[in-house]
Amino acid sequence: MHEMSLAEGILRIIEDQAAERGFDRVLRVRVEVGRLAGVEVAALRFSFDAVMNNSVAESAVLEIIDTPGQGWCLDCGTSVEISALYDACPLCGGYRVQATGGMDMRVLDLEVDTADPQPSNSGAPAR
Ligand SMILES: [Zn+2]
Repeated sequence: MHEMSLAEGILRIIEDQAAERGFDRVLRVRVEVGRLAGVEVAALRFSFDAVMNNSVAESAVLEIIDTPGQGWCLDCGTSVEISALYDACPLCGGYRVQATGGMDMRVLDLEVDTADPQPSNSGAPAR
């Protein structure tokens, strides 16, 4: 299952970040999934839970940001929104649409719980 290797890729990013920033618990992981990326969200969620087991992200919530597919219609000369590769152009119904966006999956950010939190500027006065 290809979603399993995607989840493993997410875990590697999380572990690199954990080593770099020194957090020990991840609360939330935001992942952007393009509609043309060929990722099955249900399978990704399942794989995520399996892969994050016994990691810093064991109890993390996976938040998936669904981004629309973008295409360029050669007939209209216009950028259009498409929901699948090889979709017809929503404007003219033509099939000469080249996918230009929404083909990737990437980790946007992590919400983490640090054991030793950074001092914050909000709240108490500075002195
Ligand atoms: Zn068109």
